Formats: sequence, C-alpha cells, structure tokens
Amino acid sequence: MIGVLGGTFDPIHFGHLRPALEIYEHLALDELRFIPCGLPPHRHRPQAPMAHRLAMVEQAVAHHPGFTVDRRELTRSGPSYSVDTLESLRQELGAHVPLCLLLGMDAYAGLSSWHRWQDLFDLAHIVVAHRPGRTGPRHLPWGRSRQVENPADLRTAPAGRILYMPVTQLDISATAIRGLVAQGHSPRFLLPEPVLAYIQQHQLYLLPHSQRDACRQ
Ligand code: ATP
Repeated sequence: MIGVLGGTFDPIHFGHLRPALEIYEHLALDELRFIPCGLPPHRHRPQAPMAHRLAMVEQAVAHHPGFTVDRRELTRSGPSYSVDTLESLRQELGAHVPLCLLLGMDAYAGLSSWHRWQDLFDLAHIVVAHRPGRTGPRHLPWGRSRQVENPADLRTAPAGRILYMPVTQLDISATAIRGLVAQGHSPRFLLPEPVLAYIQQHQLYLLPHSQRDACRQ
C-alpha cells in the first residue's frame, strides 16, 4: 500500500513529517511519497521557488527508509490538481494497488472545492490527520458512508474509503515559520536542521531590505 502526501512545503516542517511517520507506521505503508506542489490551485503562489522547496523536501526525507520524493507536479504545466497526480500514479501502479492520499484536517475540510473532487475516491483512499486548531467537519455528509475505523480495511480495496487518524498534534505551519524568519527570529526545532541550514544558506523567506528597514522604524 502506498501513501501520498502533497503540499506546498514552503518549507517542509515537523508538522508534516511527524504525522507522516505515524501514518506510515500505523498503516504499514510500503512507501510514502512526498509530492511538492508546482502551482497550487487554491492559494497564493509559494514564496520559495520550486527548486528550493523540492531541495528542502529531499533533504528532510533523505535518511528515512520508505519516504520518497515525487517530482511529477513540478514538471507538469498549469495548476497542480491532485486528481491529475493520482490519475498518473494510478496508471503507473495499476488498478489494484491500494493508494492513500494523506490530508490534514484543514485540507480535507475544503475537499469539495477541489477540481473533480468526486473522482478522487475512484483513485485513492483518503487518510485524514487531525491538525491543531483546524477542526474541520469530521462528518461530511458524503464522507460517512466511506468511513472505516480499521487500517486493514484500506487493504481490501484500491480506493474509495476514508480513515480519520489521530496523530501527535503539532501546531506548526509553514506560514508561521516564514513569519519567524521574516521577523529575524529562529524557526529552529520546528523543522529539520538540514532544512533550517538550507533556508539560511539560500536566504529564503527574508523580507526585502526596504521592508525590513520599515519594520525596524
Ligand atoms: P502554509 O502555512 O503555507 O499554508 P502548511 O504548513 O499548511 O503551509 P502545506 O504544505 O500547505 O503546509 O500542507 C500540506 C499538507 O500537510 C496539508 O494536507 C496540510 O493539512 C498538512 N499539514 C500541514 N501542517 C500540518 C500539521 N501541523 N499537522 C497536521 N497536518 C499538517
């Protein structure tokens, strides 16, 4: 069974990585693919360029067996719709391999606004991780009939089921990390050390000089 975690990863942080590990182990996934988003359809453009976001994800997962990085959304033009990503994964994996799309509660709560969202259930299961402060509607009307409690139930079909999973609650967001860096504070211990080193080396998320000066006045 394969898991997929998409995100802008601007930057990747422990709020992505710890729940991902817990889900990977709890579901006994064979592989968990991190898929950085090229052009997010539902939000502002990422602040760091694609190549930097990809490099940070690669560094973050480099030493974890079973965690891999999938670049397909970065090489596709146009908005990065999850349904297109899952369709291309499905083509590669065949019709029978169970595939799990991992989502935080905030992402899940907005699912019905996604491009061709109903087709997602033909392509993958959805595993929803609780996220602090983002208490989405747990029982979406269309979700109830798909819900399973036991991870084993995800193995008996390739797609179409929903599992809610409690994970360690880490109130970390990429927005907060970007804000810390922009204000000259350290985001250390919110994200892996190599990712922090990368941010510092490439001077990501700093405010332009003019704005920094204005903040100090
Ligand atoms: P931003 O603050 O820029 O919006 P983010 O921290 O929410 O970014 P994304 O890359 O947009 O990170 O998130 C990718 C996926 O990871 C989404 O499904 C999101 O719900 C989930 N996620 C992000 N942070 C957490 C967290 N702290 N706990 C649980 N899930 C999370």
